[in-house]
Amino acid sequence: MASFDKADIEKLIDGVLPWPATQDMLKSSKDEDRFDKYVEIMQARVDFEDPILLPLTPMLFIVNDNGSRVVKCRCGQCFGDYRVNWKLSALIYVRDDEEKMEQVYVGREMPDPGWIQLREYICAGCGAQLEVEAVPRGCPPDFEFLPDLDTFYRDWLGRPLPDTCEFKDATLDQINEWAK
Ligand SMILES: [Zn+2]
Repeated sequence: MASFDKADIEKLIDGVLPWPATQDMLKSSKDEDRFDKYVEIMQARVDFEDPILLPLTPMLFIVNDNGSRVVKCRCGQCFGDYRVNWKLSALIYVRDDEEKMEQVYVGREMPDPGWIQLREYICAGCGAQLEVEAVPRGCPPDFEFLPDLDTFYRDWLGRPLPDTCEFKDATLDQINEWAK
């Protein structure tokens, strides 16, 4: 079983691990504590104290906030229950006409704004662009990743979380709540 030290993984995250070492890491089977090392590195880089349960992106994390499983940006901005698509709680800039599309697409690369819109999701806390999606008009925000945390911790890491939480997509529940 290969084992890479934390410094190598940190370099991998930052894109500065030399290519031969990166290849070596890619070809080796994953060291068993890779997840823990990764979480430890990211925990030291975020601006909040809540323990990270699972990184979603380099900027977004599911954390344990006093017993609640919520999504937080690196800056600490909270996006609520991790079972609700975090995009609903982001600032959204929509490019839906030629003028706005031309700022990012050149010539014929530009999709037809009559069909497609570009949505940029931005953190209200730090202003970072968290995600961009190009989707047909009217398409709901894509919910990219809804992990089953209890199964992951219990069956994959072999250490169940102290509490459990019903695994479901709660996005529509949240929208219904807002519609009341
Ligand atoms: Zn932020």
